[in-house]
Amino acid sequence: MPYLVLKDINKIYPNGFHAVHDFNLEIEKGEFIVFVGSSGCGKSTTLRMIAGLEDISKGEFLIDGKRANEKGPKDRGIAMVFQSYALYPQMTVYDNLAFGLTLEGIDEDVIEEKVKNVAKILGLTDYLERLPKALSGGQRQRVAVGRAIIRKVGIFLMDEPLSNLDAKQRVTMRSEITEIHRKTGSTTIYVTHDQTEAMTMADRIVVMKEGYIQQVGTPYELYFNPVNVFVAGFIGEPPMNFVTATLKGGKISIGKNVVDLSKKLSSENLKKYEGKKLVFGFRPEAITLGEGDGYTIDCTVELTELLGDNTNVYIDIQGEKSILKVNPHETPEMDSNIKFTIPLESVYLFDGESEKVIK
Ligand code: ADP
Repeated sequence: MPYLVLKDINKIYPNGFHAVHDFNLEIEKGEFIVFVGSSGCGKSTTLRMIAGLEDISKGEFLIDGKRANEKGPKDRGIAMVFQSYALYPQMTVYDNLAFGLTLEGIDEDVIEEKVKNVAKILGLTDYLERLPKALSGGQRQRVAVGRAIIRKVGIFLMDEPLSNLDAKQRVTMRSEITEIHRKTGSTTIYVTHDQTEAMTMADRIVVMKEGYIQQVGTPYELYFNPVNVFVAGFIGEPPMNFVTATLKGGKISIGKNVVDLSKKLSSENLKKYEGKKLVFGFRPEAITLGEGDGYTIDCTVELTELLGDNTNVYIDIQGEKSILKVNPHETPEMDSNIKFTIPLESVYLFDGESEKVIK
């Protein structure tokens, strides 16, 4: 029996706006789940329904097999960290961490032990006597996380907890949160719009768009087996390249290149899609420069960006814009005409209308 079950969950706000549609998900104990999607897709609304901060309009939410729809936030065994982490400014780190436990009337000795333990996990041992104003943004965020994990709750909810940090702190905190999760083993649901956070932290990712789940899967599954154009374009940086083309005689034109899809599509699909639009997708990094095994494409280099570990090459395929990610030592000249090859297994084809992947 999964620990958390969300069954056909819907949210219709009092103004009639239908923010979440038929959300179905089962979460195992100890999993790290990330809800990802662009702003406004319903991530926070879903998280807030799990927390008990928003009513569930339709559907059922189970914790450990028991219906929890009507349970108040305090009775769900949940701790939350939000993007704006309000610490008590006049209290030391120690007191900020201890506050919730003190309210619960727990013994001082027990509190001290818990605070010290959490401080150790979070690397805050040397800062316990400091006030929040004497901490960096990252350290303050760690105190906020500490306040949530110090109460031994079963479910840990985080809503964009890193969005107030600078890029470097975000990278550090990302691995720290993963490490805390590994140490505490608490079931975690984490909301972000950042696909990199999702890919690096999640056991499983839930990709959402306009209130609907698009796909649920491990980072590996989403990257290699996206179910539609949206997921393919959302996961990966830079995103997957897409070229829309009409299938004619089993072939499509990409710029002046004629690409024979009979190597990629079953005879059944070749027949089904003849005369129809297809979306041809390939990842910037899944190519080799020059000719080789697979589909070779001619293009013109418009711009190159050396990033250190790789170069992003912005290309024009007779009007179609794409990006290639290449070894910096192989950076082509700007304005040059080059060829690159996409191996067959790195080509994704999608139905031009439904945008669903064609298997
Ligand atoms: P996300 O977290 O993915 O950015 P939200 O869950 O916050 O998205 O919001 C989803 C949608 O619901 C948005 O279009 C938002 O404007 C709308 N929404 C959020 N709260 C309310 C509300 N109280 N009343 C009406 N609509 C709301």
